[in-house]
Amino acid sequence: MTEFRALILTEQDGKVAAGFETRRIEELPPGEVLVRVRWSTLNYKDGMILNGLGRLVRSYPHIPGVDFSGTVEESSSAEWQKGDEVILTGWRVGEARWGGYAEYARVPANYLVRVPDGMTAKRAMTIGTAGFTSMLAVMALERHGLTPAGGEVLVTGAGGGVGSVAVAILAKQGYRVVGSSGRPETHDFLKSLGAAEIVDRAVLAAPGKPLQSERWAGVVDAVGGTTLASALAQMKYRGSVAACGLAGGAELATTVIPFLLRGVNLLGIDSVLSPLPERQEAWRRLASEVPAELLDSLTETIPFAALPEYGGRILKGQTRGRVVVEIDG
Ligand code: NDP
Repeated sequence: MTEFRALILTEQDGKVAAGFETRRIEELPPGEVLVRVRWSTLNYKDGMILNGLGRLVRSYPHIPGVDFSGTVEESSSAEWQKGDEVILTGWRVGEARWGGYAEYARVPANYLVRVPDGMTAKRAMTIGTAGFTSMLAVMALERHGLTPAGGEVLVTGAGGGVGSVAVAILAKQGYRVVGSSGRPETHDFLKSLGAAEIVDRAVLAAPGKPLQSERWAGVVDAVGGTTLASALAQMKYRGSVAACGLAGGAELATTVIPFLLRGVNLLGIDSVLSPLPERQEAWRRLASEVPAELLDSLTETIPFAALPEYGGRILKGQTRGRVVVEIDG
């Protein structure tokens, strides 16, 4: 093993292009652990990186892929042995350093989490960064008092990766989950994950009054923009919103009124630098609290070669649930 295949991004005259190349193991960045990557995924952020958007990558040539799972090939850390099954999400891997769209990746030992009991490396990537973020959002809402008895929970961007796993986790715990989606074709799928009701994305995306009828005990928001502003305006007293994403926009035009009159909590969710104990807890819960058969129904597995094409699709909202990439395939 001296060479490996990778999807390499290059930049010329401000334009980013993707192509498969063979590289040498010595070219990988420094780190204690060399991982044979088996599975990676396509996240919204990967779509941005594959298309050269958001200035997330500052140095080319670059190997994208913000998450992966696989087996340890070599380790100079006592924590990891050859053959251990590991998960990587975040730490700006795939952005600031080479990532998972390659047969091998080298990373610092403390970036890795063990594949938990009851989960396979493939299942870990079915969940991936998106599902991990969903669990962080649920954990944050729980820390702020959310329980199924508190009332309905809204999940926005429900047809996407973060949203669909959030729907599945919350429904399994007995919450009445309302999904907001712009695609009628996702409705049956979301109901199969446990959503009790679907609201059209356009309803929340329309600007409204800063305080509206109280409805949501909790919200997992993957959309941002006016959708997040509407959710804040519709919160029940002391309800909490976990702000995870910006698929609908990065701006937030709102007022302080929901915070002052209803004691609403706006909770920021960042999966990238989540500390190790929180990561381990989230993965432990993901192993037992996400119904495995539902995960399969929300996953599309694509071959490594299809990545450049899918990178365009995710930005247009044309993927459903999770997209897992078979690096071995
Ligand atoms: P996906 O593309 O899989 O899902 C996003 C969903 O948002 C789409 O499926 C669609 O759902 C909805 N959507 C898309 N465009 C719009 C729009 N213009 N207006 C309203 N809704 C829209 O992405 P992910 O689930 O992987 O990520 C979702 C968001 O979360 C992204 O912004 C991503 O950057 C962020 N994220 C943040 C993380 C963190 O650490 N905070 C980690 C991972 C992701 P539907 O068709 O059902 O309406």
